[in-house]
Amino acid sequence: MGIVVQKFGGSSVANPECMARVAKRVIECRKAGNQVVAVVSAPGDTTDELISLSKKITNQPSCREMDMLLATGEQMSIALLAMAIHNLGYDAISLTGPQAEIITNDVHSKAKIICINAERIKSELDSGKIVIVAGFQGKTANGEITTLGRGGSDTTAVALAAALKADMCEIFTDVDGVYTADPRIVPQAKKLATISYDEMLELASLGAVVLQPRSVEFAKLHNVKLHVRSSFNHNEGTIVQEVSAMEKEMVVSGVAHDLNVAKMTLFDVPDVPGIAQKLFSALAKENINVDMIIQSNSRNEYNDISFTIEKEDTSKALAIVEKVKTEIGAKGVTFDDQVAKVSIVGAGMKSNSGVAAKMFEALAEENINIQLIATSEIKISCIIDRENAQKAVQAIHSKFGLDNELSQLKIS
Ligand code: ADP
Ligand code: ASP
Ligand code: MG
Repeated sequence: MGIVVQKFGGSSVANPECMARVAKRVIECRKAGNQVVAVVSAPGDTTDELISLSKKITNQPSCREMDMLLATGEQMSIALLAMAIHNLGYDAISLTGPQAEIITNDVHSKAKIICINAERIKSELDSGKIVIVAGFQGKTANGEITTLGRGGSDTTAVALAAALKADMCEIFTDVDGVYTADPRIVPQAKKLATISYDEMLELASLGAVVLQPRSVEFAKLHNVKLHVRSSFNHNEGTIVQEVSAMEKEMVVSGVAHDLNVAKMTLFDVPDVPGIAQKLFSALAKENINVDMIIQSNSRNEYNDISFTIEKEDTSKALAIVEKVKTEIGAKGVTFDDQVAKVSIVGAGMKSNSGVAAKMFEALAEENINIQLIATSEIKISCIIDRENAQKAVQAIHSKFGLDNELSQLKIS
């Protein structure tokens, strides 16, 4: 008998009909002889609705109370799923993140899991129960409720799979697996049968919300094999696992886009040591994640520093940057939250030249201006105008032949 962790996202538990479908799926896995832990998200758009509700009260909610509020979404799902399973004659128990002893740091709304004391879950499993755990939440060492950032239920599932040494972690969602681009934006996108942790981590970090980046990091670290698949059918999905260097690699395995981006530029910055340290440590202190950083060449002992952040951090970041600007004697700050990031990811990129040129060609042909560029061994990202994002993703997807059958694209 193995242990299987099954995670069901918001659309999979959106209404009573979906909940009954999930209950059957969990029971199927149990009947196959497994001990099953189901991790569930809040139903449908509940998390967004709770955020909107809070905005009707205040624009500056306390982080602690916001987590208290958002954690209720997942609590609804666990109780309803337990009831749906009971209805079908099986024994199940629901646990909140804190009851499941998921311990996090104290960074409200972006908390990181520090450890999981899995004794309670193990003993419930050993007594024959299906265990249902609320995704996206945990508690600090002091017992305060925290949440793990948007999409955090994926991370709960992978962390539980690691803690329980599960044989498999299945991520059930509303698409059949990981595609070469978001299938809602690029209808010709193709499902990938397998993808490496590194490529998946890049895709997720660059905006492919199908998995939360942290969950992929966790999976890689603890060697948890993931199966991303649909809760609406029994099709095989995508396996995320370590891929050996001997295996064939695609030059580009996917195109990702991210609309949750804002660009900030500090201009006419004195070109002296210590400036970047001052700026970025001030942002880090407030838990603002900085993504792309570009510093221009020095001209007349001044330069410009541009960087990107998550859109919702714009006003917080702006206040910090304005303060740093005065301290370091820079001349001005601009920001633009109408931008998007489009990226290509592929492990085969490292051994193939001309990949960047081909991406830029696709954008040039669509007359799309590139504002910032960042590259790593297996990815290239460009910041462009937000209104061009869809057009850009489609053009790049075609340019790299991803609209065609994938087997033709592999290199040896
Ligand atoms: P869940 O509620 O199940 O966690 P999410 O909305 O978080 O679901 O993630 C699934 C969505 O991810 C899909 O509906 C799809 O639009 C989006 N997505 C973005 N990029 C990709 C990709 N490369 N492959 C598959 N889905 C993607
Ligand atoms: N309910 C949370 C969200 O909408 C967590 C999750 O779905 O994974 O972000
Ligand atoms: Mg999700």
